[in-house]
Formats: sequence, C-alpha cells, structure tokens
Amino acid sequence: MIIGELMTDIVAGVSPADCLADAVAIMCEKQCSCVLVSESGFPKGIITERDIVRLFSEALINRDVADVAVAEVMTKDPVCVQQTTSLYDALVLARSRKLRHLLVINEHEQLVGLVTQTDMVDAYVHLIERQSQLETENHELHLLSNEDALMKIGNRRAMEVELNFTEASARRYKKGYAIALMDVDFFKKYNDYYGHQRGDNALRALADTIKDSMRESDRVYRYGGEEILLLMPETNKDDAIVAAERVREAVETMALPHKESPFECLTISIGVAASCEENWRELIESADKALYQAKGGGRNKVVAS
Ligand code: GH3
Ligand code: MG
Ligand code: MG
Repeated sequence: MIIGELMTDIVAGVSPADCLADAVAIMCEKQCSCVLVSESGFPKGIITERDIVRLFSEALINRDVADVAVAEVMTKDPVCVQQTTSLYDALVLARSRKLRHLLVINEHEQLVGLVTQTDMVDAYVHLIERQSQLETENHELHLLSNEDALMKIGNRRAMEVELNFTEASARRYKKGYAIALMDVDFFKKYNDYYGHQRGDNALRALADTIKDSMRESDRVYRYGGEEILLLMPETNKDDAIVAAERVREAVETMALPHKESPFECLTISIGVAASCEENWRELIESADKALYQAKGGGRNKVVAS
C-alpha cells in the first residue's frame, strides 16, 4: 500500500501570510487537529494543535495574540512524503520523528494531502488482519484442492500424494499397507431409473457411510466416477478384509432403495490387496482384478487378491 491511497485530500488550507485566526477558525469549523500551510501549491508549514497550545502559553505570559500571522506560529519545513511512499516507510518515518502528521506531495513537490499517524496505524493493522485472512483462505483452498466436491472425500490428486507417502514409509519401516477398491453395483441402472441428480445424492450418502464405518487411521478417496479407494496404512490382508467387509455391510445396511438391483438396495463390491513390496500402482491393479472377481461372483461382496 502507498501513502497516496491513504491520505486525506486538502480540504482547506492557509498561506503563511494569512492571519492565524483564519487557521484556528478552520480547525474549529472542520474539527481537525491541523491546518496545512502552502504557497502557490508548495508546502510551507503546518499548524497543529500543539502549535496553538504553545502560542497561547507564551501569550498568556507576555504577548497579545490578536494579529499573529500563520507564518509566526506554524511548524516550518514540515516533513513531507511523496504520494508513492510506501505505508511502511511513512510509518517508520512518522514514528522515528515522533510526528503525528505527514504532508503529502506529488512529483512536482506540490502539496496534495495529509496523512496522520492514526490513519497509517489503522491501515497497517487492517493489512495485517487481511494477511491473516488470506492465509486462512489459502489453507481452505488447499483443502478444497485435495477434496472431491461431490463426495467430500479426498480427490485423486490427494490420493496419489498419500499413496506415494504410504508406499515409501511401508518400505522404510517394513510395515505393509492395504487398499480396498470399491465400486457401486448397478449404478448405471440407478441413474437411469432415479435420474442423475438422485445418483449424485446416493454417492454423497455412500461417501458419508464409508467415512462413518472406516477406521480413524484409514483414508478414503474418490478414485473415479463411482469408484472409491480406501487406503489402510500398516494393515495386513486379513485385517483389510475385515475392514472392507465392515464397510460393505454398512452400505448394505444403509438400505438406500435401488429397484433395479437384485439386492433391492444400493450395494458395493470391493477388491482388496495388501503388500509391503509392490508399488501402489501395482497394488491398485491387483485390487482391481479382485474387484472384477467380486463383480463376476455376484456383486455385493469382498474379494481379496
Ligand atoms: P457394475 O455393477 O458392473 O459396476 O455396474 P455399473 O452400472 O455400476 O457400472 P458402470 O461402470 O457401467 O457404470 C457406472 C456409472 O456410474 C455410469 C456413470 O454415469 C455413473 N457415474 C459416474 N460418476 C457419477 C457421478 O458423479 N454422478 C452420477 N449420478 N453418476 C455417476
Ligand atoms: Mg465403475
Ligand atoms: Mg459400478
């Protein structure tokens, strides 16, 4: 942010030759804490409340204040900043010089406005708040970019990142991992019978049920259309079969009507594969073959490779 965006334009000013009473009248009328002094557009000084207080303390002792000119009282050679000065630089300048007001000039050195320390501090605080808001938004975007918009589970990109990580750590620590590849049975018929919109709702409900029935340490991703991948770190084949069976049963128990299915409700078939040595792409291939067998064997069942 630059000062030009922040400054207050000159509303009313005086020249050095003007009577001080005019300057004080402006301060009273506009309820402002200072009046800018310029001559032919160039900054000459500034009259602030402090100057007035100083004058009166002197006047009380030995002077008559009636005919005092602005030039006698104003702070001369006021500190000016260019419109293009950054907020940070201006703030540092104001604080180090203990100035409450900075006059703002343009590229021709002409007076164009005023910026106060309060304006700058407020703007700076706002910037910091905005920055932390942006950080939160970035974090949310990051989460969104890893999430499937429909099912609210991890997307394929997140799945690949996690599988790479799990595979590497399985190799390093010699702890196997397992995957379960799930596919909705007769889903094309479901869409045809109930419509695509209800098909989408069914996929949402399915994802929720899977999330509820899987273990805390497992991860779930949308692998493709109506296919879901469950990643089970540090899990052997037997335990993976048990976990997959629990998920299959939970989906069947959900009892979402599917008139076109012999099971009369929405079901899934699952192919399970577990390994320590294979890379994850090979593991998915094995799980896919097992899934194919589950489909061939009548659907709504779990088959391990
Ligand atoms: P099978 O039991 O052999 O798996 O039969 P199927 O009909 O489920 O298999 P198929 O692969 O022929 O059909 C998958 C269907 O899933 C077709 C496609 O329109 C549907 N589908 C994929 N993604 C979405 C989605 O996001 N929303 C909806 N409503 N349908 C989807
Ligand atoms: Mg499919
Ligand atoms: Mg299917």
